[in-house]
Amino acid sequence: MTAATLTIDLDAIARNWTLLDDSSDKATTTGAVVKANAYGLGVARVVQALQAAGVRIFFVAEAREGLAVRRACGDEAEIFVFSGHMAGDAPLLARANLIPLLNDAAQVARHFELLADHPFGIQLDTGMNRLGMERAEFLALRDDIMAAGPALIMSHLACADEPDHPQNAAQLHAFREMTDGLEVRRSLAATGGILLGPEYHFDVTRPGIGLYGGLPFADARPVVNLSLPVIQTREVRQGESVGYGADWRAERDSIVATLAAGYADGLIRAMGGRAMLWADDTPCPLVGRVSMDLLTVDVTDLDDIPASLDILCDLQTIDDLADMAGTIGYEILTGLGPRYKRVYKG
Ligand SMILES: *Cc1c(COP(=O)(O)O)cnc(C)c1O
Repeated sequence: MTAATLTIDLDAIARNWTLLDDSSDKATTTGAVVKANAYGLGVARVVQALQAAGVRIFFVAEAREGLAVRRACGDEAEIFVFSGHMAGDAPLLARANLIPLLNDAAQVARHFELLADHPFGIQLDTGMNRLGMERAEFLALRDDIMAAGPALIMSHLACADEPDHPQNAAQLHAFREMTDGLEVRRSLAATGGILLGPEYHFDVTRPGIGLYGGLPFADARPVVNLSLPVIQTREVRQGESVGYGADWRAERDSIVATLAAGYADGLIRAMGGRAMLWADDTPCPLVGRVSMDLLTVDVTDLDDIPASLDILCDLQTIDDLADMAGTIGYEILTGLGPRYKRVYKG
């Protein structure tokens, strides 16, 4: 049996990075967020494609991910770690030359004690209340931190995908109030922040989802295609049911195709009865419940039944599928399972 195939367009990723890079001025350096295995798409290949497009600054969530990026990109690029300097990380930070973004006074103390001459950055909390030093904590340490020469000071916006949300301006104000006048590179914007405009760009931007073809970057070129082979087809008489719970019943004599992927592959049950599968540009409804390894699809209206149908393609993007499943494109992407054969284009 041919495998379900996830095709990843590296040229589209590079193109999306260039478009985002062009959205800020030359003085701003556009980095790339490649955490969670480059949002599920394969960190080594994605890092190499981005590096070839011009990326010199990468961001990951944790130190071990940074090691994989270092192996892929060689010695030159800067690699920042959002979770900062966690207990036990010092040898890895040193060996892979990773720059932890220190999140509180305890991390600052740990870093200055264990890796005094090793580069670091600072993450500030400006209102998201997730990661980073709070204002008072930062101000108390600011002179010591600045004397040690941080490589970057950053913060993260909670509502950047909603341009009119008042928290964007509030966080921008808080960030400036804590950092204006300091001799250090600054970073505030992820994909959504880049689109909010130049006052959010500062020295370095950190796009993630936009590189991989997702909203809020509406101009992104789609990056993934997911094609699922048909295992068998059957005739289902009017009134017969299909799948677990006998949830779907044929309203007419139908042809139903059974495809080789299911919720164990990240095609979550919530898309059952809502998503479409595509035979080129013809949509075929997903019917019945999603099983662990299988989907059932109404292909009655197709003249010819192809060897495979697409669930992600230019006509049904990660965000379209996410809407149908009550989630977001980020979760669809990072959930794409290890059983797919991954094929890289470009
Ligand atoms: C994940 C993440 C990003 C990238 O966000 P996107 O919305 O995917 O562009 C940037 N900064 C931080 C701190 C993150 O956690």
